[in-house]
Amino acid sequence: MGIRAGEDEVADDVGAWLEVLHERYPPAQAAAWDNPGLQVGAPDWPVDRVLVTLDVTEAVLEEAAAVPGTLVIAHHPLLFRPLARLTPDTAAGRLALLAARSGTAVAAAHTNLDVTDDGAGTNDPVVRLLDLEQVTPLTTELREGGRVKLVAFVPPESVEEVLDAVSAAGAGRIGEYERCAFRVEGTGTFRPLPGSDPYSGEGIGRTAQERELRLEVELPRARAGAVVSALIDAHPYDEVAYDLVPLLDGARTGFGRVGRLPAPQPLSELAGAIRDRLPAPHLRFAGDPDRVVSRVAIVGGAGDSLIDAALASGAEVYVTGDLRHHVTLDALTRGLALIDAGHHATEVAAMPTFLARLEAAARPRGLDAPVVASAVPTVPWR
Ligand SMILES: [Zn+2]
Repeated sequence: MGIRAGEDEVADDVGAWLEVLHERYPPAQAAAWDNPGLQVGAPDWPVDRVLVTLDVTEAVLEEAAAVPGTLVIAHHPLLFRPLARLTPDTAAGRLALLAARSGTAVAAAHTNLDVTDDGAGTNDPVVRLLDLEQVTPLTTELREGGRVKLVAFVPPESVEEVLDAVSAAGAGRIGEYERCAFRVEGTGTFRPLPGSDPYSGEGIGRTAQERELRLEVELPRARAGAVVSALIDAHPYDEVAYDLVPLLDGARTGFGRVGRLPAPQPLSELAGAIRDRLPAPHLRFAGDPDRVVSRVAIVGGAGDSLIDAALASGAEVYVTGDLRHHVTLDALTRGLALIDAGHHATEVAAMPTFLARLEAAARPRGLDAPVVASAVPTVPWR
């Protein structure tokens, strides 16, 4: 939350910038093994400049330290594996100490940026330069989100009262709509046992069939307790039947992309186009140079682990980086041509769009710190 500095002025601080970053690229969308978010610094540190970079290196931190109050937002997390000690003995410890000593805050948007559908993801530069058509994510990353569905069975004469009550407790809100619900009619059956107080039917021990409405509403998980209490209070039955069902998010986000070229072309031509236009000066490719391909799978960064997904997607060629020797040979044997454009080249090309999205999201919130691209090239290879 930004600190209110004046009447309607929001302080540029790390917390406010993280809010912007996480609203656009929710950490919940990151892979379970990832470590996105704030890595060095505190939410109340003031921010006078945001520096966007693919990697955090000593040179990037020197660049950051030249302007006090710099928040570095990197794609690759500075802290990735748990550290047992913060000393200069590890690369991460050394860099984290360096950042903290100069008052440089460091945050990362890693796999939560990879999966985005806003065009700033690490697959999107290759998608755009090839004009790929019918593009879909290569994987589907379904995960339990922050919303649940309440299903309740309500006699028709009580349904408006019940819906009012659960809405007032926080259910039924979708975007700019409230009291959103669905109902369908059916038959509820029960046999009341001694000690019960049936609202309808023909008394204790007699099987009853009653017309009921199945009422469905969505709600934030955090409101579940309040909404179920409201349901039970407003419902006329002494025993209220209801289900709370966790909802999955992520059907529209996933790692990698797959799509079709506007026109089929030989593998060597495709590789040449990516090398020149990404640009990817260290690009190498594997497979018959004359093989004509049209379906292309892409994973920016390191793509070893998604070879099976690329094959399953029907791709003829897989564009990624960091492909190991044996992984490459196996993929070729299974009929997949490969273009290794480099981890750095595929991902660094996404940084300008990422920077622009971040800046555009920050300005309406009154955050005016300049957002600039790091001038340090972090590709280590010559
Ligand atoms: Zn990467």
